[in-house]
Amino acid sequence: MIPEPLVQSRQLGAWRIHAIQAGGQKLDGGAMFGVVPKPLWERRVAADERNRIQLGMRCLLIEHAIGPVLIDTGAGNKETDKFYDIYGIENRGQTGPTRLEDGLRELGFGVEDIVLVINSHLHFDHAGGNTTRDTDGTVRATFPNARYVVQAGEYAYATHTNERTAASYFPPNFEPLREAGVFDLVEGEREIVAGIRAIPTPGHTPHHQGLLIESNGAHAFYLADLVPTTSHLPLPWIMGYDVEPLVTLETKRRILKRAVDEDWLMVFEHDATTAWSRIQHDGKTYALRGD
Ligand SMILES: [Zn+2]
Repeated sequence: MIPEPLVQSRQLGAWRIHAIQAGGQKLDGGAMFGVVPKPLWERRVAADERNRIQLGMRCLLIEHAIGPVLIDTGAGNKETDKFYDIYGIENRGQTGPTRLEDGLRELGFGVEDIVLVINSHLHFDHAGGNTTRDTDGTVRATFPNARYVVQAGEYAYATHTNERTAASYFPPNFEPLREAGVFDLVEGEREIVAGIRAIPTPGHTPHHQGLLIESNGAHAFYLADLVPTTSHLPLPWIMGYDVEPLVTLETKRRILKRAVDEDWLMVFEHDATTAWSRIQHDGKTYALRGD
């Protein structure tokens, strides 16, 4: 099942922002919820016959003054059919190699229009669409006029893998861009362009980052894998994939409190149905706020 709709749009301060559902993905439910027992997570999300749950791969497009800015790029088109089957990835496009191009097209943009691509981290389902494999096998930048940005520590981590981390980092997703001189590495919290701030959110990977977008006092926060779906809002509901789950816990504690205090619109990358929502704390746990 490919989660729909392809594109959802709203206003954030002076800017239009668009959630582009770059495809479906299915991952093992146990791995997605870490130490949470199946009888608990199954009440929130159903598992298929292979114990997998349906996820999305939502990218965020911001119509910024400098031009369209894209956060994360989905899974791309460079892996084998077998690989996409294992991860339940359904992202083939109608107007280009992937659904990300379809979404951009629906919004009236082409890949050449994107001026900046920001990666939350470099796992294949977040940075796979950074590059595209042409029919002759050549790997090229998907966005020929864009600069790309990620945390320097994440780039180092992605290029120095071990037996556990190697399965998520594929050099064709980032090395051709670095070699071409278009991948900029930033360190720690910093404003990447006016109104878009990188906030280190370690835990899933040591240098994972969220993106805080601010326009005219309105805030949105792209959570990426810190809180991949709305079901991951409770503090201990942490993915088994995280390399430092107790660091994730402290990052969540800090970020979710700020999100409530400062009324951030949360953007959920992997949720199959909910693109964004504000959140509340009911005295016990974090949950969506119904407005
Ligand atoms: Zn990841």
